[in-house]
Amino acid sequence: MTSPVTAYIDTKALLNNLNVAKKQAPGAKILAMVKANAYGHGLENVVPVLHDHVDAFAVARLDPALQLRSLNVTKPIVIMAGFYLLEQLDIISANNFEPLVHNELQLELLNKTTLINPINVWLKVDTGMSRLGFLAKDVERVYQHLVACPNVAKIGFMTHFPDADDIAKPITENQIVAFAELTKDLKVDRSLAKSAGVLGFPSSHAEWIRPGIMLYGASPFIHKTAEELDLQPVMTLKAPVIALRDLAKGTAVGYGGTFVCPEDMRIAVIGIGYGDGYPRHAKQGTPILINGKRFPLIGRVCMDMLMVDLRDGLEVNIGDQVTLWGKDLPAREVAICAETVAYELYCSVSKRVKFEVIQ
Ligand SMILES: *Cc1c(COP(=O)(O)O)cnc(C)c1O
Repeated sequence: MTSPVTAYIDTKALLNNLNVAKKQAPGAKILAMVKANAYGHGLENVVPVLHDHVDAFAVARLDPALQLRSLNVTKPIVIMAGFYLLEQLDIISANNFEPLVHNELQLELLNKTTLINPINVWLKVDTGMSRLGFLAKDVERVYQHLVACPNVAKIGFMTHFPDADDIAKPITENQIVAFAELTKDLKVDRSLAKSAGVLGFPSSHAEWIRPGIMLYGASPFIHKTAEELDLQPVMTLKAPVIALRDLAKGTAVGYGGTFVCPEDMRIAVIGIGYGDGYPRHAKQGTPILINGKRFPLIGRVCMDMLMVDLRDGLEVNIGDQVTLWGKDLPAREVAICAETVAYELYCSVSKRVKFEVIQ
């Protein structure tokens, strides 16, 4: 065994989670979000599994879109960040990608050029996210502009929710109403729902849903767990116990000596650190799963190692595989201990971690 830190990718869990999305929104087409290398799971591990069960894929930028074509993706590929250069537009046209159109510069570029093939575009409407998109007052003009543009084929409408992870907040329903009003007289495909919309806001399903985090098995909600939503973790991150130490009461552990042994005690050193993508900011007490039992992280996470309080640790041995997150330890729980989100944990898994697909 040469590369002991391993991210196991469970393809059955991936398909289970996709089916949860389909059950929630039976009439909707699926734009599978695989941006950021499939949320850190690896495009090559995720896309072939999903390909025949979804209607399109979405990435943020052009490079991964080209990578998808090299993975033999024949479904539409949406470029969420759009484009800002003419040469990008040429690549988009040559490869049949579908970019988002969200600002005036893009309209100018579309007017300036003659593309090999007219492209399908998604008109992004800003209904409250204030990231990309046109405001409601501009939508009619932009739409007419695109309709008149010979470089544009089909036009879809898209908007995004900033606060749907909290179902109790009224903003999402207000966005849904505003978007419906803007698109009510148009025969266009519409897309509003990220995972939280798919699972929490049925009125947001429209023609296309855009599930991301739920496909990978994490809950998009603050107040609901993945288990309650029938989602299964796709990634399980594991590393070995590389040392066991018996330390005397009063011994300081690790950089900064932030943990001091309150009694004579055993600790385990695990062979994973922030160099692998384990969050350095994980607090003391963050759970680590060893042989089916949770133990608390102690001291500061190092680059290649971290330490665990083994006081309740019966039969832990060097070489035992430890779970950092995944099956039986939701990434979201670890994320909360590191003041971040499961999305970031997944995306941070570094290049030196080995990926292994399990069927
Ligand atoms: C990332 C993203 C999604 C998917 O969000 P999840 O919360 O992962 O489901 C959908 N739409 C847009 C615009 C996004 O950026």
